[in-house]
Amino acid sequence: MIGQQAAEGLVARVLYSSAVDGPGNRAVVFLQGCDFDCAYCHNPETRNLCDHCGACVGACPAGALSIAEGGGEGGERRVVWDETVCRDCGACVRACPKGSSPKTRRMTAAEILARLERRKPFLSGITVSGGECGLQAAFLEDLAVAARAAGLPVLVDTNGSTDYSARPRLVEAAEGFMLDVKAWDQGVHRALTLAGNDAVKRNLGYLAGAGKLAEVRVVVAPGLVDAEACVRGIAEVLRTAGAAGRTVLKLIAFRREGVRPARVALPGPGREELEALAALARSEGMGNVVIV
Ligand code: SF4
Ligand code: SF4
Repeated sequence: MIGQQAAEGLVARVLYSSAVDGPGNRAVVFLQGCDFDCAYCHNPETRNLCDHCGACVGACPAGALSIAEGGGEGGERRVVWDETVCRDCGACVRACPKGSSPKTRRMTAAEILARLERRKPFLSGITVSGGECGLQAAFLEDLAVAARAAGLPVLVDTNGSTDYSARPRLVEAAEGFMLDVKAWDQGVHRALTLAGNDAVKRNLGYLAGAGKLAEVRVVVAPGLVDAEACVRGIAEVLRTAGAAGRTVLKLIAFRREGVRPARVALPGPGREELEALAALARSEGMGNVVIV
């Protein structure tokens, strides 16, 4: 790193303790920005990047937002967020024409680790999520390397749109990847996410073959997701890679709470449907199937 500037990540949030973002008690770093637009997204405010238009500033009841003229790197104006007075009320996100959040920070891996230092004895590791963390691969790589050296293994929670075979340092440094398979059929995937899934399928095989695929997740959303095709397709790829027995397949029941109502009007799956998918996955050779 001597003579080289540390990569900065655009961080939406750091959660200091989570029991649901990987095994054990983990810190979670959420990065801002995503290249998919999933109909069932539960964090749509982490998708778009703020362009500092200023429309949210007057909506803040706490005075936590202000405009700094010339505050950007190129002298452009910036909206500045004061974390210390923010009430986390969400009014800024509701006021934003892009549905974005002004509550982001540029941070290096060293700055993230400094924030976690005090809690380190209680943490099993760090999960990096989003938005889509793979879009900030240089920062993600720095964080995975630095965190591993600090004794905090990193799990990468990703939509799989980034070609991880081109990032061997990241793959080597990360403890593992938790990969979302949103849909198997290309047309179904495009309808759900407004993006294709070729890279997702390539990453599925690549990460499984590299022994770094910790978990594959399918959100079971009837009418939106071809869950049966997902299960069959994932199992085939993992069998070929010799990873079907050991990789966790998580079947996640879609829940409507928190989803943009204009995008999804359908109810979630019943227990029977989830059990039938789990049975299908086991019959296809998946050795570790979990229903959530
Ligand atoms: S969530 Fe947004 S609007 Fe609410 S206090 Fe914080 S910065 Fe202001
Ligand atoms: S969060 Fe939205 S409304 Fe606020 S400055 Fe950024 S783009 Fe404008």
